[in-house]
Amino acid sequence: MPVSSVAVVGAGVAGLCVASELVAAGVNVTLFDKARGPGGRLSSRRFAQESAVFDLGAPYFTVSGNDCLTWTDAMQSKGVLECWSASSNGPITNCFVGSPRMSALTRELSEGINMKPQTRIVFIQRESGFWQLLDQHGAKWGGFDQVVLAIPPKQALPFVEMYPSVTRILDGQRLDPAWVVMLSFGRMLPVTNTVMHFSSGSIERAIRDSSKPGRSSHLDTWILHSSGAWSREHLDVSPAQVLLMLKNEFKGQIDVKDEPMETAVHRWLYANLPPNAQVPEKSGIEVSDVGLWLAGDWIGGGGVEGAWRSGHYVATRILERIAFH
Ligand SMILES: Cc1cc2nc3c(=O)[nH]c(=O)nc-3n(C[C@H](O)[C@H](O)[C@H](O)COP(=O)(O)OP(=O)(O)OC[C@H]3O[C@@H](n4cnc5c(N)ncnc54)[C@H](O)[C@@H]3O)c2cc1C
Repeated sequence: MPVSSVAVVGAGVAGLCVASELVAAGVNVTLFDKARGPGGRLSSRRFAQESAVFDLGAPYFTVSGNDCLTWTDAMQSKGVLECWSASSNGPITNCFVGSPRMSALTRELSEGINMKPQTRIVFIQRESGFWQLLDQHGAKWGGFDQVVLAIPPKQALPFVEMYPSVTRILDGQRLDPAWVVMLSFGRMLPVTNTVMHFSSGSIERAIRDSSKPGRSSHLDTWILHSSGAWSREHLDVSPAQVLLMLKNEFKGQIDVKDEPMETAVHRWLYANLPPNAQVPEKSGIEVSDVGLWLAGDWIGGGGVEGAWRSGHYVATRILERIAFH
């Protein structure tokens, strides 16, 4: 099948990697996302009153594969990614952060891509050899040879219901939810590590966001992530209550009485691949032979590196098709 036009649904790292690699090779790509901008789980948010910006999703990421290190080198040379000498009872190796915020990385990846923000795709169908996409407003986007769904497994499921072999794979996949609490203190808290891991209680990890390179905050800003198990049990608790619980637990853990000057809270329904998750054999899934693909961190091994690997895998396979025809 000759490939001339590709629709990518989802502008997280995986979708952006597919789209940017295809666009660089001259393929006509349209990228759809329900959010206002690109980034997905690498988004950043501004505190309401202060100028400080904090990272709402992944606070940093580590890389183990040389293939992905080639990509991080390229992003570093563009000035949107920096190494962070983070410590958590010892240095965290190959640790990267977007600069001046995580979303700088995904903004860079989206450069030159025909992106349709605030466009939630609700239905896809194949007609006369081409894919048509329907959005939440009833608008039709058509004429695509290939469609890549670069979205979490539960969100991808309704689109592939007619392919039982793929729904079986998707049924076995899940991402853990997470509550994220942001706290800004007016003085430096007496903590030496920039990342703290906790093995019990609600908090899994605390990250000193303001210590990351490129951040200009005059406040000591901390991000708290709840554990997957705790988040599942407290999914429907009110944000205000979660904020209070995590804040008090953190203050108790580090033994400070200071009250934060600013706070914020966010719930992610799909945050991280659980530890020991069964990852599909290949880093991308081709759904039958109809030009429909699945990509995402959950296929590529989890995390930002997994999302990059999955996006790169799917782009490479699609480009092989083009070369073949
Ligand atoms: C709190 C938290 C902490 C994390 N910590 C780390 C960490 O320390 N290290 C690490 O490597 N990773 C971490 N991660 C995970 C990392 O952020 C993800 O693995 C990665 O960003 C996933 O990228 P993705 O492209 O696969 O998916 P996403 O970023 O989820 O992108 C999917 C996109 O699809 C869009 N979308 C979904 N459905 C539709 C639809 N129907 N129509 C249009 N658009 C749609 C969404 O809006 C979203 O933008 C963390 C994530 C969170 C939330």
